[in-house]
Amino acid sequence: MPNSTNQFERLRCIKRIDETSDASTFEFEHLDQRPFEFQAGQFLTFEINHYNNLLYRAYSICSSPTQANSVTIAIKRVPGGKISNYLLDNLQAGHALPAMAPAGKFTLEANKTTNNLLLMSAGSGITPCLAIARYLLDTQKKTNIHFIHSARQASDVIMSSLLTELADTHSNFRLTLILEKTDNPDYFQGRLDSHLFKQLVPDNSKQTLFICGPSLYMKSVEEIVFGSGFNMDYFHKESFVAATKAGETVFSDVNHQITFPALDKQFMANDQQSLLDAMHKAGIKVPYSCKSGICGACKCKVSGDVVSSSNEALTAEQIEQGYVLSCSTKANSDLVVEL
Ligand SMILES: Cc1cc2nc3c(=O)[nH]c(=O)nc-3n(C[C@H](O)[C@H](O)[C@H](O)COP(=O)(O)OP(=O)(O)OC[C@H]3O[C@@H](n4cnc5c(N)ncnc54)[C@H](O)[C@@H]3O)c2cc1C
Repeated sequence: MPNSTNQFERLRCIKRIDETSDASTFEFEHLDQRPFEFQAGQFLTFEINHYNNLLYRAYSICSSPTQANSVTIAIKRVPGGKISNYLLDNLQAGHALPAMAPAGKFTLEANKTTNNLLLMSAGSGITPCLAIARYLLDTQKKTNIHFIHSARQASDVIMSSLLTELADTHSNFRLTLILEKTDNPDYFQGRLDSHLFKQLVPDNSKQTLFICGPSLYMKSVEEIVFGSGFNMDYFHKESFVAATKAGETVFSDVNHQITFPALDKQFMANDQQSLLDAMHKAGIKVPYSCKSGICGACKCKVSGDVVSSSNEALTAEQIEQGYVLSCSTKANSDLVVEL
């Protein structure tokens, strides 16, 4: 089956490591072996041919841009999930997968930072935090990193030996593991609460916090951190899933004409409908992944008037050029659209 757009380039998987009972890491290289250009904390959106349906999923890079000949991602099983389970059951070294260029703003470059970095994660949310830690440890010594990871038990921690190695070899890297089930005195037992946060971070005045993990974990930590008087200008988060599920679209009486010159197509879109849904309904296979304005997989270029609720994954230059995230954009006039 051909790729749906030319935004994708095939990457070859060169190594797979089964890290835990439900998560594996996969290392990829370009087919022509040229280095990758990305920032620590960014993700790749893969196109997966799932039983003849093209589906798109984002996976954060957990390796450092300082070792750019390859990139590594970690995938964790999601119960009932289509693609995480499919990739974990099928993807092996030697296979190739189409992927979009690295994207995302959960990065040091796109956010306000200080020299005291708290990296907080749970589950597969460890991936972008690990990339940020590895990049900083490879490039400079003046940032103090406190990596606080939460998991059910020690055997669930993805890349745990790497974390331990970083803690053993870098005096500016401190590792705290908070485990629901443990009797090892090296770890904290239970869940993070405001008391434990105060104990771990007694002075939060000059800290920067990057956090990534399951929605409930992020919500609870955000409340604890906010309650501690943390300066939220320095609180940066990445969500892997939409906080709320998109509801049914309630259509209005206003429709706009959408022209798609590349496929010589014209169709109508309601002004309450996302541009992505309207394009899919018209049979135009635009890639998408998170459907919540985070991952950038569904970006397209529009001429005309639109209302967008998110441009998170777009650069200032792309916004200037007329790119929008079609999952988070509604037509406010007739539009011409290209990918
Ligand atoms: C920017 C970004 C970076 C990401 N990085 C990673 C990464 O490094 N490693 C990784 O394993 N995943 C990562 N994800 C999540 C990944 O893209 C997929 O969403 C995930 O693998 C589940 O896909 P699926 O097809 O198996 O599940 P689906 O079939 O899409 O969903 C099945 C059900 O599970 C829920 N669900 C979907 N994703 C999750 C999740 N992550 N946790 C809990 N419930 C979920 C859905 O709401 C749905 O109810 C990232 C997502 C984004 C947006």
